[in-house]
Amino acid sequence: MSDKLKKQAFQAEIQQVLDIVIHSLYTDKEIFVRELISNSSDALEKLRFLQASGTSVHQADVDLKITLETDEKAKTLTIRDTGIGMTQEELEQNLGTIAHSDSKGFLDRFKEAKKEDASLIGQFGVGFYSVFMVADKICVYTRSYREDTPGYLWESSGMQGYEISEAENLDRGTKIVVHLKDDQKEFSEEGTIEQIIKRYSNFVPFPVESNGKTINTVKAIWAKSKNDIKEEEYGEFYRYIGHDSEDPFYHLHFSSDVPLAIQSLLYVPSKNFELLGMAKSESEVNLYCRKVLIESRAEHLFPDWLRFLKGVVDSEDLPLNISRESMQDSTLIAKINKVLTSRFIKFLGEQAKKDPEKFDKFFEEYGRFIKEGITTDYAHRDALSKLLRYESSGLDKGNRTFLQEYVERMSSDQKEIYYLTSPNREAAESNPYFEGFKAKKIEVLFLYDPWDEFVMEHLREFDGKTLVAAEKATIDLDDQERESEQKSLDTKEGEELTGWIKSTLGDRVQKVRISKRLVDSPAVVLDSDAHMTSTMRKMMKAMKKGEGDAAEDEAKVDLEINPSHPIIRELNQTRVTNDALASKVTEQILDSCLISAGLMGDPRVMLNRMNDLILNVLKK
Ligand code: ADP
Repeated sequence: MSDKLKKQAFQAEIQQVLDIVIHSLYTDKEIFVRELISNSSDALEKLRFLQASGTSVHQADVDLKITLETDEKAKTLTIRDTGIGMTQEELEQNLGTIAHSDSKGFLDRFKEAKKEDASLIGQFGVGFYSVFMVADKICVYTRSYREDTPGYLWESSGMQGYEISEAENLDRGTKIVVHLKDDQKEFSEEGTIEQIIKRYSNFVPFPVESNGKTINTVKAIWAKSKNDIKEEEYGEFYRYIGHDSEDPFYHLHFSSDVPLAIQSLLYVPSKNFELLGMAKSESEVNLYCRKVLIESRAEHLFPDWLRFLKGVVDSEDLPLNISRESMQDSTLIAKINKVLTSRFIKFLGEQAKKDPEKFDKFFEEYGRFIKEGITTDYAHRDALSKLLRYESSGLDKGNRTFLQEYVERMSSDQKEIYYLTSPNREAAESNPYFEGFKAKKIEVLFLYDPWDEFVMEHLREFDGKTLVAAEKATIDLDDQERESEQKSLDTKEGEELTGWIKSTLGDRVQKVRISKRLVDSPAVVLDSDAHMTSTMRKMMKAMKKGEGDAAEDEAKVDLEINPSHPIIRELNQTRVTNDALASKVTEQILDSCLISAGLMGDPRVMLNRMNDLILNVLKK
């Protein structure tokens, strides 16, 4: 062995990862074996791909396999593969810096949660470093598949850093010698290691040997017939390729011959990692051709909104030598994308019918992706709209409906589909925009996610019926529907009062009119712009925050008053006897409406007025 070539410190992020890995008390320390085997398997897949696409490799006829050796006396576990190996630069890159931006997310999340959640380690590509949970020294011997490079030894005893030196007489591939800590010597016992391999490595696509014995049977489960696969094997395979300790939520095993030969096994994980506040997910679907891995985490296989999928797509129509660049604009990949996306949407529809409750859970986790699809993927918009699930005034709290079911419940004279965006059920039911619908017994969809407003904007219609925001609908109640015991202002009184209110409020409102939709509320504001709803206005305001004058937005509302509401009738009297008081009350009515619509700027501006009004009440 020649002199040490380099003594180096780990990149700061790696040091932090190591700190977590070394000092956290994971219960599942054994996952390090899985991580190392999985790295070896990746290295072998890459080699198989190089060979299949005609690249010449060092020691071309060596078997592709993974071998583990235990040595109880020396307290070591050695794992060797005949994969692509690493050059000196690759060693520094791969085992000295963090390649994935995910890992930063891992660090943040870890600091936040301080959870002893070993499953996260694999999830974030810090796999190799998990070995530091059990080892006080690690030696990585590696020789690249490239003909003209020597072998190297990478050594590290933890946080202090690592050293790289040239190493002679190495075969192609990588050998990792794990020197176990005293209290972790169980991982140098043959029985323990065999058990772990059986548990985690059943689906490694290469033979895995332990002290000379082959432990796994190699199987590409996606290429088998459904009838030959046991239900639990689907879960096992998922946990292997998905680096997840939980079962998948859904799986779709699907094969087709026309228009393309595709075999695929797709999984929906039980958790949406984006919802947990992590970085945008990256698709974890691996692309194979006749069981040879072409690309792991292949891009462009699915539209972006399906990035939560994990699994395998195998197509024998792919040319083996397809490069990543040519894959991007390959019409073949585009075709695969089309077939798989349609099939997956169809699958979701089938699941929704089969088990609506389970589908609701899916929708809670992944609804945002479906909505993203509706707003970004025109080709699948209609199909996706059939999967939307909403609460509705026609159903009890907690129950959701498909749009199709809503349409089926519509009476023959209802021509439009109505929706109301609101933070929750209670707020929706007490929303003034809902009053008219309630009185007329017309069903309204309740939308609780701010994104839904954009979804409705993009969809515009469903099953030929226009989607209309409740506040934009024309709802004219007659006296009977209003069920009002109260006397209403007559037409002349109404005209005079609205004229007076407009002159009192001036530019704060665009128009003032008598409402035909209100039952319990004294008044309501509506956006003067026919294409704008209060939710959209609210979002625009939030986006423009700090950028200028909120008063400009305020002027875009119309005020509708309820002519039979006691406040409005009293106001009509008071304006004659006490104009100053009536003006203050009118300003306050407008502000209350703005608050209700979520459009009030700074509510502090009304405090002086409120105090005046309170004083007025107390003095009486
Ligand atoms: P990940 O496997 O998620 O990329 P790791 O920290 O486990 O993260 O490994 C970092 C990188 O080191 C791998 O991406 C790979 O390039 C390289 N590597 C690890 N183990 C091996 C191996 N046995 N053979 C070749 N390269 C390896």
